[in-house]
Amino acid sequence: MESLERKIFNKSKRVVIKVGSALIIGDNSKLVNKKIISRIVLEIKKLHELNKEVLLVSSGALALGKKSLNIKADSLKVTEKQAASSVGQVFLINAWKRAFLSHKIKCGQILLTHLDAEIRSSSINARNTIESLIKFNTVPIINENDSVGTKELRYGDNDQLAARVAQITSSDLLILLSDVDGLYTKNPKKNKSAKLIKYINKITKSIEKSCENTSSTISVGGMETKLKAAKIALAAGCNMLITKGNKTNPISSIFKNKNFTLFSSNTSPRSARKKWISSQIVTKGNIKVDSGAEKALKKGASLLPAGIISITGKFDKGDIINVLNNKNKIICVGLSSYPSEDAKLIAGVRSNEIENLLGYHLRDVIIHRDDMVLRK
Ligand code: GLU
Repeated sequence: MESLERKIFNKSKRVVIKVGSALIIGDNSKLVNKKIISRIVLEIKKLHELNKEVLLVSSGALALGKKSLNIKADSLKVTEKQAASSVGQVFLINAWKRAFLSHKIKCGQILLTHLDAEIRSSSINARNTIESLIKFNTVPIINENDSVGTKELRYGDNDQLAARVAQITSSDLLILLSDVDGLYTKNPKKNKSAKLIKYINKITKSIEKSCENTSSTISVGGMETKLKAAKIALAAGCNMLITKGNKTNPISSIFKNKNFTLFSSNTSPRSARKKWISSQIVTKGNIKVDSGAEKALKKGASLLPAGIISITGKFDKGDIINVLNNKNKIICVGLSSYPSEDAKLIAGVRSNEIENLLGYHLRDVIIHRDDMVLRK
């Protein structure tokens, strides 16, 4: 019988891989651990060969910055940490770039703040940029923008950032490559009897208990932040896997060695997104459409500007809006791809005129079918 991990892996089209700082930092005098980086790049190449889209979330900016600046102290001021991260990020991205280029794979850097990932209008920008990079066969390498994020406005750990990225991009699988195999019944560094938990489909109180106080000295997140990440990912319909990154074939070996913790979600990214849209009570605007557009929407099409009769209300890109038929009945709700002032300018026109009228072109559609839920 096909194992759960194999089944999940096979059906995952879009995969986010998060690499922890402990894997990035080199031993002794070596700044970067080139061996681990090149093994991970090889795994990404294999995923590409299986036709999977890969996004990489890489930690290590702070750790590399401190090492290259020869800073030993653990307690740094926020501004010192920010400065160290800005130095380390350059080394980090260069190390990835070099490793990717040796396999003729291109990569692009995206630095996100907490707000970029949490606010819908900016998270749509991030999503669009990531989509475009994937279209250009380029691996997006994402990290938190540590040099500008203040304490209140940061995730601080890349586990949760990676889960948000997975959510924003409707990814199917999030793989956290760590310095441990996964989640244990107790802290394995302190208890010999600790057992690896292989499958989790519900995060219970006892699982939460086993994750307390597990952070390491190099990376920010321990198991607690991984569990927080799992909650975000599972709610978004994304399965999550934790496994050790410092070995040969860290991803493909899981099928043989079975050293991992797999969190399986009981929904898909698409249904999770639709459920979330459906549950939104506050709508910011109304778009009235003609009968042709109404018919197309009911058959599952996206909303094009051409079928729009009128637009009322003030909304931003990413806000929830109602779509009404010409008898003023709400036929669907969805996330707008354009802010209201621009949507008004392109209402009723063909999509190939968007660029001319707005001076930019985000999408052909005002509401994409994946961002829309029909109302009965
Ligand atoms: N953005 C942090 C860095 O790159 C990551 C923190 C972490 O999760 O270890 O240093």
